[in-house]
Amino acid sequence: MASAARVDLDGKPIKPLTICMIGAGGFIGSHLCEKLMAETPHKVLALDVYNDKIKHLLEPDTAEWADRIQFHRINIKHDSRLEGLIKMADLTINLAAICTPADYNTRPLDTIYSNFIDALPVVKYCSENGKRLIHFSTCEVYGKTIGSFLPKDSPLRQEPEYYVLKEDSSPCIFGSIEKQRWSYACAKQLIERLIYAEGAENGLEFTIVRPFNWIGPRMDFIPGIDGPSEGVPRVLACFSNNLLRREPLKLVDGGESQRTFIYIKDAIEAVLLMICLHLVLLAYNDDNSSQENPARANGHIFNVGNPNNEVTVRQLAEMMTEVYSKVSGEPTLDVPTVDISSKEFYGVGYDDSDKRIPDMTIINRQLGWNPKTSLWDLLESTLTYQHRTYAEAIKKAIAKPAGT
Ligand code: NAD
Ligand code: UDP
Repeated sequence: MASAARVDLDGKPIKPLTICMIGAGGFIGSHLCEKLMAETPHKVLALDVYNDKIKHLLEPDTAEWADRIQFHRINIKHDSRLEGLIKMADLTINLAAICTPADYNTRPLDTIYSNFIDALPVVKYCSENGKRLIHFSTCEVYGKTIGSFLPKDSPLRQEPEYYVLKEDSSPCIFGSIEKQRWSYACAKQLIERLIYAEGAENGLEFTIVRPFNWIGPRMDFIPGIDGPSEGVPRVLACFSNNLLRREPLKLVDGGESQRTFIYIKDAIEAVLLMICLHLVLLAYNDDNSSQENPARANGHIFNVGNPNNEVTVRQLAEMMTEVYSKVSGEPTLDVPTVDISSKEFYGVGYDDSDKRIPDMTIINRQLGWNPKTSLWDLLESTLTYQHRTYAEAIKKAIAKPAGT
């Protein structure tokens, strides 16, 4: 695939792009860098404050991509090199953000600064220098579903128009201001509106991505192993940590919220289509001759999720318990889950999205993309990775007497 992907539909070499990727050292960034190095001729200027998750791409001087990826340790809050790097690139992809729910109600100022204020110069430099921008927003901008406000027994709750989330028609419904959980969604919504306005008034070429619970290897951290002991990552890492330590999985407010989970590798295929890869498009869609991908992606907001992988958080816990037992060979606990209130788990100001099903019409029409991997299969490969990566370290940490 690697060499085949480097020619366009006419068999001509694809023009290598220089991509300024901000937040390249995070979960999504690490997978995107890997994909770009393995399957495209593009060059990546990888900006982040950390690089642990992309070290394997940076270290081997002998790797065939060694001259196509450059790491720049930059905090975009205060670094004058940012504009120069954006100017050097054809395309900027902004992934940088505080994006773990445990932070939204406990560090609302950092959350708002990170997701709105810190993104402003990126948008400005792209607009002023005529550079294309792919900005990562979130499915959380939809907030709660319309259906969640109907009586529990209302038959309308079963109607898709009351819960399916559509880019061009669903409203954004957040809780009250003291529910600081929504600081993140609100900041992301405002930066989306600003980018949209830059497009409308100043001609900025943009694509906005709304990820719906992308999960897979390298997501977040395992508390006490490669992150702070008291840290609270997103649900995949929380439940992985519980399983690795043989503790019951904690279900916040009974685990009734619903989510659709997508495998990171499926989602990265969608991002690649937005960047511009004719041959990948060819694999998905016969109707690909009229426009190149940037034109198909520009000016659009895309839901990227897997509507077929919906579960309640309780069902997710049950499935992860079963899959982890299979991949680790360890029996399940007699009491595999415990309920915990959101106040105890996250503190005051927490609130939740009730249900998140992405409408796929726009991404299907524009890019011909569809997710492939079932929830069971993605959990099997992800939990195999978690077990292989962390089980020994956890055993050692547990065996170590406290305070040593
Ligand atoms: P992540 O936390 O793993 O990655 C974010 C990266 O940005 C981190 O490596 C962090 O160090 C870096 N960063 C943050 N602030 C920075 C700064 N000031 N300067 C330089 N680097 C900085 O998160 P992720 O899951 O990879 O998410 C990436 C983007 O996608 C975020 O914008 C997030 O809001 C969005 N998103 C992700 C999901 C998901 O399912 N993973 C869901 C919704 C939205
Ligand atoms: N959650 C849970 N137990 C945990 C961690 C999270 O029940 O140990 C719940 C959380 O309350 C939310 C869902 O799992 O309903 C997904 O949480 P995540 O942190 O992944 O982010 P979100 O999808 O809310 O953005």
